[in-house]
Amino acid sequence: MRVFNFSAGPSVLPLPVLEKAAAELTEYGDSGMSVMEMSHRSKAYEAIIGRAESLLRSVMNVPDNYKVLFLQGGASLQFASVPMNLMVNKKADYILSGQFSTKAYKEGCKYGDAVAIASSKDRNFAYIPKIKREDVREDADYLHICFNNTIYGTKYNYIPDTGSVPLVADMSSCILSEPVDVSRFGLIYAGAQKNVAPAGVTIVIVRDDLIGHARPDIPSVMDYQIQADNGSMYNTPPCWSIYMAMLVLEWIESLGGLTAMKAKNEEKAALLYDYLDSQNYYIAAADKDCRSMMNVTFVTGDPELDKKFAAEADAIGIKNIKGHRSVGGMRASIYNAMPIEGVQTLVSFMEKFAKNNPKG
Ligand SMILES: *Cc1c(COP(=O)(O)O)cnc(C)c1O
Repeated sequence: MRVFNFSAGPSVLPLPVLEKAAAELTEYGDSGMSVMEMSHRSKAYEAIIGRAESLLRSVMNVPDNYKVLFLQGGASLQFASVPMNLMVNKKADYILSGQFSTKAYKEGCKYGDAVAIASSKDRNFAYIPKIKREDVREDADYLHICFNNTIYGTKYNYIPDTGSVPLVADMSSCILSEPVDVSRFGLIYAGAQKNVAPAGVTIVIVRDDLIGHARPDIPSVMDYQIQADNGSMYNTPPCWSIYMAMLVLEWIESLGGLTAMKAKNEEKAALLYDYLDSQNYYIAAADKDCRSMMNVTFVTGDPELDKKFAAEADAIGIKNIKGHRSVGGMRASIYNAMPIEGVQTLVSFMEKFAKNNPKG
């Protein structure tokens, strides 16, 4: 029996995608072999990676002057790849809105003058700092932000105005959840294991003019120019994850693309947030004006009750609902592939649990 898996990542994948992958697991098309066994230089595989890229371009409406790369190393390697490729003036600005953006900033500090121009650490990252164009150094090579904060359940409700400074965004936990105007960003990156595919592939979407200026000591596999020149195949790409990304993109396209995803995601998130706002047993952890549509965080205010909640939820098939230790309480990750029934099941469990466990 399939459970409702609220894991923050690796996370739920669409059932039709898993079924398709299972059906062609041992023989892909007329190739007589699994995608896992194929040369990445074969005709069959070239068609897969090519289709993954063209689907991503059409689904996200990626402008022609952007490269799409399929890399390895996770979002965490991008924390280093971004400064190594983009820090031409050796200056970069960062907004700290959680653990991942803080890690990115720390990595950036290794390669130049990285400055944290704003932070929401004062309230345990429960909100998104607001910045103005003047806050960004004019000669900074980029401003780095984390668009959706997986751990805290916050999301940017605005795109920072950086003037001519390129905006770099970690979109690991919100990519493909709604339409974004790619042209507002210099670079977007995302580890796949939240909303795109199994772990293994990291998507980088980067504007042409920003590549080709990497520091000379950069490892070749991290050099965007080298990867772009080689169609993401400077070395063996994460073949299986890219294939799965292709299937997920086909699934998204068949449902109506990102506009349809957004409508579904808004409906799911509203179910949870409307319930949270209608009662006072659970407390939503993130500020209202920057709530994530993908990761919904809440606490009871009593760590013992939180523990009981997660255990009882688990027993009825609501899995991985325990929050990250730095927030506590619960976190429901409701990515694209989470069916609305999962959220409905969760909300009715929350109601029942509140009734059965009155606070002292
Ligand atoms: C999960 C996550 C990461 C880390 O991704 P890895 O692929 O494990 O390196 C970074 N940023 C965000 C926003 C994430 O959600």
